[in-house]
Amino acid sequence: MLEALGLGSEAALLDETIPASIRASAPMGIGAGWSEVAVLKRLREIADDNVVMTSLIGQGYYGTVLPGVIQRNILENPAWYTAYTPYQPEISQGRLEALLNYQTLVTELTGLDVANASLLDEATAAAEAMTLARRVAKSKSAAFFVDADTHPQTIAVLRTRAEPIGIELVYGDPAADLRADAVFGALFSYPGSSGAVRDPRAAIVALHNAGAIAVMAADPLALTVLASPGALDADIAIGSMQRFGVPMGFGGPHAAYMAVRDEYKRNMPGRLVGVSVDSAGRQAYRLALQTREQHIRREKATSNICTAQVLLAVLASMYAVYHGAEGLIAIARRVAGLTAALADGLRALPLTVETDSVFDTITVTLAADEAERVHARAVAAGMNFRRAGAGRIGLSLDETSTPETVEAVWACFGGADDLLSKISVESGLSKGVPEALRRETPFMAQDVFNTHRSETEMLRYIRRLADKDLALDRTMIPLGSCTMKLNATVEMTPITWPGFSDIHPFAPAEQTKGYTALFADLEKWLCAISGYDAVSLQPNSGAQGEYAGLLAIRGWHRSRGQTQRDVCLIPASAHGTNPASAQMVGMKVVVVKCDENGNVDIDDLKARIAQHANELAAIMITYPSTHGVFEEAVREICALVHDAGGQVYLDGANMNAQVGLAQPGRYGADVSHFNLHKTFCIPHGGGGPGMGPIGVGAHLAPFLPGRPEALGEAAVSAAPFGSASILPISWAYIRLMGDDGLARATTLAILNSNYIVSRLEGAYPILYRGSKGRVAHECIVDLRPLKDATGVTVDDIAKRLIDFGFHAPTVSFPVAGTFMIEPTESEGRRELDRFCDAMLAIRAEIALIEAGRMDVAASPLRHAPHTAADLGAAEWDRLYARAEGCFPPGVSPEVKYWPPIGRIDNVYGDRNLVCTCPDMTAYR
Ligand SMILES: *Cc1c(COP(=O)(O)O)cnc(C)c1O
Repeated sequence: MLEALGLGSEAALLDETIPASIRASAPMGIGAGWSEVAVLKRLREIADDNVVMTSLIGQGYYGTVLPGVIQRNILENPAWYTAYTPYQPEISQGRLEALLNYQTLVTELTGLDVANASLLDEATAAAEAMTLARRVAKSKSAAFFVDADTHPQTIAVLRTRAEPIGIELVYGDPAADLRADAVFGALFSYPGSSGAVRDPRAAIVALHNAGAIAVMAADPLALTVLASPGALDADIAIGSMQRFGVPMGFGGPHAAYMAVRDEYKRNMPGRLVGVSVDSAGRQAYRLALQTREQHIRREKATSNICTAQVLLAVLASMYAVYHGAEGLIAIARRVAGLTAALADGLRALPLTVETDSVFDTITVTLAADEAERVHARAVAAGMNFRRAGAGRIGLSLDETSTPETVEAVWACFGGADDLLSKISVESGLSKGVPEALRRETPFMAQDVFNTHRSETEMLRYIRRLADKDLALDRTMIPLGSCTMKLNATVEMTPITWPGFSDIHPFAPAEQTKGYTALFADLEKWLCAISGYDAVSLQPNSGAQGEYAGLLAIRGWHRSRGQTQRDVCLIPASAHGTNPASAQMVGMKVVVVKCDENGNVDIDDLKARIAQHANELAAIMITYPSTHGVFEEAVREICALVHDAGGQVYLDGANMNAQVGLAQPGRYGADVSHFNLHKTFCIPHGGGGPGMGPIGVGAHLAPFLPGRPEALGEAAVSAAPFGSASILPISWAYIRLMGDDGLARATTLAILNSNYIVSRLEGAYPILYRGSKGRVAHECIVDLRPLKDATGVTVDDIAKRLIDFGFHAPTVSFPVAGTFMIEPTESEGRRELDRFCDAMLAIRAEIALIEAGRMDVAASPLRHAPHTAADLGAAEWDRLYARAEGCFPPGVSPEVKYWPPIGRIDNVYGDRNLVCTCPDMTAYR
């Protein structure tokens, strides 16, 4: 491969690629790489240092049972976890169907019209609901009311998110304290954090009369037996789907949900799966209303959500598919019945239980010293209770609770052993669910929730969906900026170990020593890799990291009395989340031009700095740039901004081009996020989970996100360590690779992309290169001249690649009409050649059109992708042979991937927006 580049060594390649001015000189200090055996052994020790307890802490996180058939065939199956966000719908029908099931599940439970395909966690979903409410409310008030009986971590995140954008939060009891005409919206917790189930109807009527919006944070399991938010006339519902089979995982990842009334669907954040038709008129799924995507809206964006929680949404949906409505109701009734029995027993002791109207959670009040003795007895018996304030103990039961659990809790409160024989669990339900708030309407009548009820059928349904999709287990996915690299099995193995997955995020520190050690290693290594001084592991996506990093910059300016600094410079080529995040911290986005080589235009940068010198807060740059080039001027850019009093946010999505070779913290940046789901091997899961920890220079360390349990400090995620349970993946990757392995991976990533350039440059123009003609770890292929000459579009080529069995590269980002190709170090030469051969074969097809020997509209390119139905159709009236369409050069019938649908019609789908499972009669 080096020969193809005319080079004698890897070192020579690096010298031509990475500016000498930023090259790291010393090893990072991580040490040598370990063997897989040694890494697993150490991870086993770490997991064993976490203590698995029966956690009845509740507060949004509950024990649950992930059915084995779902765990093994989805959570532990690379066909699902290595997939990418379904931007190419023809190769994503399986996960799109699962996500449509998820949206349907959420609309059925909430009684609202439209649900999105997941948000990051319940707390950020509440914040998104708050800002959505402000956008759509008729009321022009700047205040938002928050039910004081809301989970503390949700309140913590609401505080963080409200302050920079001038929203004032008002807390209280909705029944007593809500002044509907003084707010633009209100959040009700249903049930409340204390367990109390309250009727919000009167308050909602008052809000609506005042032109304000009603948001409900609702527990989805409770909604199987309680009246839905829609039935109570709420406008928006949010919550966590964790207890639908997803392990607590010390806080995440879990899918949050959001559902809205039909009239607000176009304002909803996050991704939305919709139903459309394909080229043959068949029903087909795809992401709907993509013009809402923040990539496109940029500084007009209202939310920065990009990576969400797709894999977790799929898990939750499958849990519902497997259980059906009856199964879910049975679980809910059992939990409610046990809880009522628990409360009866405690009252009989006698103790004070705060409220009568509960679902799964009660709060007990007693003297503070007695409460301490109860906690001590609980821990000794292997249980955690919630510390809900002095003398208040919270108890939440869940799917895993049994009558023995109830008995054990009684014993901790000094209850007699025979209480259970006196208190009937069955008698519980009638007391548990308040009469006036019982669900009256049936739900989940769709076929999908009523067909796959045996393990045999469930197994085959999961397999059938997986077979429709392309993921990394079948082909390289050359998506530029997304870094679709190997997610090694050994890295994935530990995440389902109970020592990592069955830990409550608010468990006492003595029980989480393993996690503490793992986080300490990871923070140390991320500092060593990036050259920063401190790391926060809280943000659970890259975009969340951007938000947290900009908040840190804002906090630093404020601490120095520079409150007027609110301008954020962003180059025109930036990822859409950059301007969106800047908006969310209340900064004004000022765009900086790029020159014809794709680099930041230094003259324009100087002009913008001069124009805004006194207001300059930050610049957000991506490095290597989103154009796939190591800009020579990066040090100069950082210095110019610093001299004007600003800070440098360096988007770390492209760290795969730097690890071991260059350190942002050493060449001038102040803060970066690291997409652990890109560079550090967490799989993309079909669009999430991810993790976006941030590294900062020492001066910004005091402004890192606070822990959500410490109310009053700025938290950006619901859980203290974001999606903690996937951090062992990145830990394992770094430990396996060591200093040399990491640097070599980066070198090979750069070699691979330059090799692709060498193979394609004769056939397609390569848009941007560095000063010595090299690209970084990705390259942009310019398809616009071909379109001008022949009418062949980027989409035609992307879809034709499917016929070759490939996932398309990134389409039209950062430059419209181009492909951005990122091979990563994980692809070997054979796969790179297979891809390049396909690109060259496509170029030959385009040549036929150029030569006037084929009309573009009649070409295999325009008809791509070809389906098995095309192959088997009785009629064939195309101007090319069937075999040419279905089996292009190099594709053998033996290993052929068949997309289940032909090309999707996006316009039809957006015009006829359907975002829930179609009525089965539609198929007939
Ligand atoms: C992926 C990406 C982001 C956003 O990261 P998420 O984890 O999806 O939120 C930001 N910037 C760039 C350049 C990216 O490639």
